[in-house]
Amino acid sequence: MLGIYIHVPFCIRKCFYCAFDSIPKSKWNENFIEEYINCICNEIEITSYTKSVDTIFFGGGTPSILSPKHIDRIISKIDKKFGILPKAEISMECNPCTVKGNLLSDFKNAGINRISIGGQSFDDLLLKKIGRLHSSLELSKTLETACSLNFDSVGVDLIFGFPKYTKDILVSDIDQVLKYPIEHISLYMFMPEEGTILGDKCIKGDLEIPNDDLLVEQMEYVHGQLVKNGFFHYEISNFAKNNKFCRHNLKYWNFEEYLGFGSSACSFVKRERFKNISDPFQYCKNIKSNISIKEYSETLPLKNSEGEFVMLKLRLARGLSSLEFYKNFGEDFEKVYFKELQFLIKNGFIEKKSQDKEDFFYIPYNFFSIQSEIAKYFII
Ligand code: SF4
Repeated sequence: MLGIYIHVPFCIRKCFYCAFDSIPKSKWNENFIEEYINCICNEIEITSYTKSVDTIFFGGGTPSILSPKHIDRIISKIDKKFGILPKAEISMECNPCTVKGNLLSDFKNAGINRISIGGQSFDDLLLKKIGRLHSSLELSKTLETACSLNFDSVGVDLIFGFPKYTKDILVSDIDQVLKYPIEHISLYMFMPEEGTILGDKCIKGDLEIPNDDLLVEQMEYVHGQLVKNGFFHYEISNFAKNNKFCRHNLKYWNFEEYLGFGSSACSFVKRERFKNISDPFQYCKNIKSNISIKEYSETLPLKNSEGEFVMLKLRLARGLSSLEFYKNFGEDFEKVYFKELQFLIKNGFIEKKSQDKEDFFYIPYNFFSIQSEIAKYFII
């Protein structure tokens, strides 16, 4: 089964920390959105790889800038080309500043069954400082409306670790978010990215981010609070209740196949990774002129694939199953990484458990924050 990602590069304005491939309103207009949707539909039409689809994810950028008609058109196109399986998860990221009137309900009627709201925080001062366009009140209203519409799942994204970010803000954000019957929470840590307003100030030293000890303490606080409230910390940055995991994102971490459509979208099929051109204007030009839209592609050699498989699996609380490793690579995980495992297990960075005759290797929660350091032991 296949996952499909649709990249929507449009935003109203660039947030001060954002390094995603997105363009502000000053660079696009409604006509270009139409052109872009046509090009995505063309790209879907001409793709040579087909398989039934069980997840679709509209991400960006700000997918909620699109109209329900656009969403309906793309979903219908995917269904016609690939076939969408019953009970497929169809998610959309949604920015509170774009959700007016009956828009959420119309998105639901167009086929969206899972909403992920880019809330980031309930602190109005912080929202302003990081360049978000919505207020805490708008976020609350969007959550209320989304929760009243019987989506299969409603989730919210929060972000922490900005300069001058205090634990009080985090405590208040978690308290507020827990007032709503949501079943998915993503908590991301601010990373200073070059070329962004906040990132450049941090890199220059004009702004200071909280130190690692404070960030770890804050992450541990969130873990404790959310677990106490019935959430499972299933991935480094993600918590879900009632098994409402993001099935689409699980495909990335489980090394499963997905196709991305639109500018800067990434794909992974038959061990080949490829990425589309980042510039949406160039992407459309190439599609219309039948020129390749691939920015790069690589087929992973077996050894690199093994490292990547381990790295992705170690993001999950479930960890890596040695049986799955064997099925994928025909090798014994414990033998291939004997030395590395000996060191990491001895120092408590990785634990091993047996469940239903399968051995799992996983990073305990308290070391989630250094997952990338631990994963480096498996990358050649
Ligand atoms: S809304 Fe999202 S994608 Fe758009 S600029 Fe802000 S953080 Fe970036």
